[in-house]
Amino acid sequence: MRDTELYRHLLGLVTPWEVERVDLSVEDGRVDVWVKHPKRTRFACPDCERELSVYDHSEERAWRHLDSCAFLTFLHANPPRVSCPEHGVRQVRVPWAEPHSRFTLLFERLAIDVLSACDVNAAAGLLRLSWDEAWHLVDRAVARGLAAKALTAPTHVGVDEKAAGRGQDYITIVSDLDAGTVEFIADERRQASLDGYYAQFTTEQLADIEAVAMDMWEPFAASTRAHLDDADSKIVFDRYHLMGYLTGAVDTVRKQENRALSATGDKSLAGSKYLWLYSYENLPAKHTDRFTVLRSGDLKTARAWAIKESLRHFWSYKRRGWAAKHFKHWYFWATHSRLKPIIDAAKTLKRHEAGLLSYFAHPITNECASYCTSL
Ligand SMILES: [Zn+2]
Repeated sequence: MRDTELYRHLLGLVTPWEVERVDLSVEDGRVDVWVKHPKRTRFACPDCERELSVYDHSEERAWRHLDSCAFLTFLHANPPRVSCPEHGVRQVRVPWAEPHSRFTLLFERLAIDVLSACDVNAAAGLLRLSWDEAWHLVDRAVARGLAAKALTAPTHVGVDEKAAGRGQDYITIVSDLDAGTVEFIADERRQASLDGYYAQFTTEQLADIEAVAMDMWEPFAASTRAHLDDADSKIVFDRYHLMGYLTGAVDTVRKQENRALSATGDKSLAGSKYLWLYSYENLPAKHTDRFTVLRSGDLKTARAWAIKESLRHFWSYKRRGWAAKHFKHWYFWATHSRLKPIIDAAKTLKRHEAGLLSYFAHPITNECASYCTSL
């Protein structure tokens, strides 16, 4: 296969477009591919689809495409223009990109997937984009996706916040949990950030939302209460966020205890941080022996960890009543642990108990959050 033909396949080019030339620069780690159409190809007016002959060509443009073998890849073309009797001289649509985008559709698709799985800084790093490019690319792609489909509210909504880095601390990401699609992105994680999402819908459309998974973050709950009827039965606090919260409390206990032990020359907990962060079945085998000794001793950290692990069983119940009973026992244990970080965390969960228990009416979780927690 000639390399131009190979690149036509790699780029997913459709007729009439074909590869004219490929430049590979090993020093710069990039591939530049020029594409063209055969002479006398006719193109559709972007406004009325009328087929017309080429009037002239716009200046050469470049689109960032998916990397080829780790080489940054750019597609170049001179977009043709047609002269429509009705709409005048117009640049035709190219099949690989949206108008005004500097990225191909395939690259944008990848970027959205990467961003739903990590924060903007990490996504920008992986995609080799600047932070601004990553952010604007996703922002535009979400807006376009919404414009393209009829507006309906998802049945199960996921609300998540992500560390954004630079300038702003967080962004709010709303997804359709059933379709697994990002539906809305807003700056920061204020009540107004989520209000913008709900505000697009009519009252009738909002009534289609059965449940919303979220972190125990008051502005998100407040926004949801302001827009949905009977919101408290629909808010489901996300189990991954809740477990992350408890894991944080265990880590605080470990830090305090390690400091106290180290002062007396006891190194039992030194270098054990990550052992306590795993859930038990995910603990790598090479750590099993040390961890078995640690957790069976009378360390405060071991007690905190056992309380955290017990909370996980809450979500394995089939019936709300049994889960409620488990939570009651768990809460008693946690609040009598004499471990302040655990007591504080348990009290926070107790204040949000309704949103924990609504999981049994709507067993949903933020998939995105589950992915991030497993990292
Ligand atoms: Zn036209």
